[in-house]
Amino acid sequence: LRKRCGWSEKLTGCGFRLTKAREVIIEVLKNTKEHLSAEDIYMTMHQEYPEIGLTTVYRTLEVLHSTGIVDKFDFDERRARFELSEEFGSKKHHHHLICTKCQKIVDYFDFMDEEINYLEIVTKGLSKKYDFNIKGHLISFHGICSNCK
Ligand SMILES: [Zn+2]
Ligand SMILES: [Zn+2]
Ligand SMILES: [Zn+2]
Repeated sequence: LRKRCGWSEKLTGCGFRLTKAREVIIEVLKNTKEHLSAEDIYMTMHQEYPEIGLTTVYRTLEVLHSTGIVDKFDFDERRARFELSEEFGSKKHHHHLICTKCQKIVDYFDFMDEEINYLEIVTKGLSKKYDFNIKGHLISFHGICSNCK
């Protein structure tokens, strides 16, 4: 019998497997610099936690994403990649270069001065235009990496 899981239960974890899965997935993501897919995460934890299936990993990642604990990089349904969000992870603020061919995701921290200035202007402008209190941003550039060119 599958237990139904409401919204508030999703936040605290629906049943043991989801709670455990949540802990383990966060741990896996903490211990890597990579942006992992659900399968990557599953493979990493499978040996130690064989009771947690791939479906649970998918579901748990969706919950973690909807609660802002992980950021999601979509390629297609099955190959999305995840990393802990800035608030929960240990990485410094960074932007991404994403290769749409090999799904490589490059973090870069060395922002160009123009980039910083431009983002400040855009942030101020948008805050004003939409009366919106902007707290952060996620920036990804999509394209083809040097290996795939
Ligand atoms: Zn930034
Ligand atoms: Zn590539
Ligand atoms: Zn990243």
